[in-house]
Amino acid sequence: MFYRRAHLLAIALIVGCTYIPSGKFTPPAHAIQEDDESRISRQFRREAKKQLSFVTNPEVEGFVDQIGRRLLSVMGPQTFEYRFFVVSDSALNAFSVPGGSIYIYTGLLDRVKSTSELAGVMGHEIIHAKDHHMARMSGPDPLSLLGLLGMVLARGGAGAQAAGAIGQALSATRQFAFSRQLELEADTLGLKYMAQAGYDPKGMLSFMKTMDQQNALLASGIPPYLLTHPVTKERMANIERIISSLPERAPMRETPDAVRRLQTLLRLDRHEEEAIIAESERALSEQPDNAEARHYLAIAQFAQGKVPLARQNFEKARGLDPRRPGIDRDLGRLYGQAGEFPLAREAFDRAIRADSRDAVSYLYLGEMYERENNMREAANAYLNATNLAPYSALAFNRLGVAYGRMNRPGEGYYYIGRSMLLQDEDERAVADYERAIKALGEASPRAQMIKEEIATIKSRRR
Ligand SMILES: [Zn+2]
Repeated sequence: MFYRRAHLLAIALIVGCTYIPSGKFTPPAHAIQEDDESRISRQFRREAKKQLSFVTNPEVEGFVDQIGRRLLSVMGPQTFEYRFFVVSDSALNAFSVPGGSIYIYTGLLDRVKSTSELAGVMGHEIIHAKDHHMARMSGPDPLSLLGLLGMVLARGGAGAQAAGAIGQALSATRQFAFSRQLELEADTLGLKYMAQAGYDPKGMLSFMKTMDQQNALLASGIPPYLLTHPVTKERMANIERIISSLPERAPMRETPDAVRRLQTLLRLDRHEEEAIIAESERALSEQPDNAEARHYLAIAQFAQGKVPLARQNFEKARGLDPRRPGIDRDLGRLYGQAGEFPLAREAFDRAIRADSRDAVSYLYLGEMYERENNMREAANAYLNATNLAPYSALAFNRLGVAYGRMNRPGEGYYYIGRSMLLQDEDERAVADYERAIKALGEASPRAQMIKEEIATIKSRRR
C-alpha cells in the first residue's frame, strides 16, 4: 500500500525502472544495514516536511500514533523508531518509508469507517517497513533501488539533487508499487498482528471492499493508494483465508465513533464548523436525544469560541451518553478555558480513568494547570504525556516551556532540545542541549548524560 513512496518513485524515475521483481526473495549481497534505513527515514522526514503539509491537531496525531503503538506492541522487538505522520491532503493515500516513518493522508482518514479499518492499513504499512520490503525489492544488484536511494540521500553535493528528486516524487502522480508477493505478505502479517492487538481483522476486508467500490465511482482517476495497492481477487482471497484461519477471539469493543470524532476534528481543520453545526442541528431537530449530533454540535461551537453554547451541548451530550469518546476531555478543556478549574480537574480525571494510555488528556491537563499558574503540576502532566507519547515533539516542547517558566532553564533547554530532535532538527537540538549543560553546571551528573546524548547525535550520519 503504500507507497506512494516518494523515494521509490524518485528512484524509479531516475533509473527508469518499472520492472518489479516478483520472484522469491534472495537476500541482497550487500545486505542493507538497519542503520542505513533509519538514516534514510530521517532524511526523508526532513524533505517531506518541506514538501508536504501536516495535520498538527494533537488529538488527530495522538489517535493515529496510539493505533500504531498498539500494533507495534505485539510485533516483538523494534529495530526502528517508528514515526507516524498525518498528511493534510485529500488524496486517498498512505505509504511507509524504510526505517519506520509512516505517512497517512487525511483523504484516507476521511474515508475509513472504523478504527479497525485504519488499523488494517497501518498494520500493512508497518510490515513493509519492519520486514525491509524495500531492501528486499532491491535485489542483489548493488545499484539497487535502496542503494540508489541511499546515495541520492547521502550527504554532500547530492543534497540539492536529492531535494529535487524527492520533491518531484512527492508531487508526481505516478506511483510506485511493491511486488505482488510483498503485498500479499504485508496483508497476511498485518492481519495477524492487528488481530493480536485486539482489532477486528475484518476491518481490512471491509476497507478493501469500500476502496473497490469507490474506485468504480471515482471519475477523477485512480487514487494513489489503489494504484499501489490494487484490490485483486488474489489479495481478497488471501485476506479472507487468513481471517478464517485466525483463532476466534472477541475483538475489543469496536468504537466506530472514535473514528467519526476524528473525522469531525479533521473537518474543523478545514474550517467546516458551519456545515457541522447545520448537519448536527438538522439531526437534532429529528431526534433531540441524538448524543452524537449533540456532541459534534458542541465541538464545532467550541471551535468557534461560543463557549456557553458549547458547554450546554457538551453537558447534554454527556448526560445522554457518558461514554462518548473524548467527551470528558472536551469538557475538561472547556471548563479550564472558563477558569473553572475544579470542574476541569474532575473531567480530566474521568478521561484519564477511562483511558490511562491517552497522552492527549495529559497534554490538555497540563494546559489547564498552566492557566491556573500551577507550573509544577503542569510539568507533571506534560511529563506523563511524554512518557505515553515518547515521539510527541509537542509534549516535549510544552514540558520544556513549563520548566522554563519554573526558572529551571537546565531542564527547560533539555526538553526543548528533545523536541527539536524529534523534529529532526539536530543542530538546534545540540545547541539547546549545550545551553542545558551550561545551566545545569558542567560537572553535574545530568550534564554528563546530556553530553553523551550529544555525542550520539553527532556520531550518526545525517
Ligand atoms: Zn502495500
